[in-house]
Amino acid sequence: MSGQRAEREAAVREVAAHGWTVARETSRGYYVMHCSCGRHQTTMHKTPRLLDHFRNKVAWMITQCSTQGKD
Ligand SMILES: [Zn+2]
Repeated sequence: MSGQRAEREAAVREVAAHGWTVARETSRGYYVMHCSCGRHQTTMHKTPRLLDHFRNKVAWMITQCSTQGKD
């Protein structure tokens, strides 16, 4: 699936708008993502088996922490 790289980059751009950044890339090619407040982190796989991995991840990350406050 050559589209996965583009999908992940799109996901990274989307969460960047909420304060999340790529802290580093692991030896397995995972992205370690850090939020703006420093209390949350997660990883983005390189080639997830689940097609909606990035969609789910983006939704989860924004729920956990976002610089775009809802209140
Ligand atoms: Zn946070």
